[in-house]
Amino acid sequence: SKATLIEGESKVRITFNDVAGLDEAKEEIQEIVEFLRHPKKFTDLGGKIPKGALLVGPPGTGKTLLAKAVAGEAGVPFFSLSGSDFVEMFVGVGAARVRDLFKQAKEKAPCIIFIDEIDAVGRSRGRGSMPGANDERENTLNSLLVEMDGFATDSGIIIMAATNRPDVLDSALLRPGRFDRTISIDKPDIIGREAIFKVHIKPLKLANGVDVKELAAQTPGFAGAEIANVCNEAALIAARRNKAAVEMTDFQEAMDRVIGGLEKKNKLISPEE
Ligand code: ATP
Repeated sequence: SKATLIEGESKVRITFNDVAGLDEAKEEIQEIVEFLRHPKKFTDLGGKIPKGALLVGPPGTGKTLLAKAVAGEAGVPFFSLSGSDFVEMFVGVGAARVRDLFKQAKEKAPCIIFIDEIDAVGRSRGRGSMPGANDERENTLNSLLVEMDGFATDSGIIIMAATNRPDVLDSALLRPGRFDRTISIDKPDIIGREAIFKVHIKPLKLANGVDVKELAAQTPGFAGAEIANVCNEAALIAARRNKAAVEMTDFQEAMDRVIGGLEKKNKLISPEE
């Protein structure tokens, strides 16, 4: 098969059980699951199905995970592509890739197309400083708009996209018949963090005294990805110390490391624009 950056997964095992917290987002997105499961039920009644949903929220909060869970819950294939893959692409390649993605999806419908970091390709046209590169990005964006307009809502394809910069998106993407739903995903509060910790400690062998409530209390500002990281780090630390189970102190050390990593990252990378 030809080289492509499109990832296709025909059997997704992730379900809503793997997504902790995000109750409101799950509720909003349940409609899409229902539609993918029983498209006819909706179309027979003349119901209008959204074509696309935009998941908006900070990095690592579970946007990709949630989109995959929708595919898992509905039992449909999941195709994904990252907007950042289009950066610095040769002339015509981005647009061709978008067409290819939709072609594959049409063959496998009902299915989900997921575009991560859509802002990389979907910035409003006419912005940016590098004229050449920008034209190519705009070609890619145009082909995405054309493809989105080119299939009927009853074709069984749902497009989901994720971004943490909704403010820079070209307004054309948000018109009816394109990404007509926006679902916001925030960093978890203490209750959410506790739930996420519970998911990620499940595979670990825990010593007595590991207190999930305490872990949640000690991690304000952490996104799900960082919590997953803490749990994994804690297990590595415990293993390095030849422990038979992961102890609270291992989690504490892991949290310090993750916090240290975040601080370093914030110092190195200054915010865009
Ligand atoms: P990005 O914007 O950086 O792509 P994202 O919002 O798509 O991030 P994911 O890639 O879905 O975030 O999350 C990364 C990992 O963090 C997940 O694979 C999962 O292990 C963990 N995670 C994030 N949020 C949650 C959550 N709500 N419940 C359980 N695990 C989570």
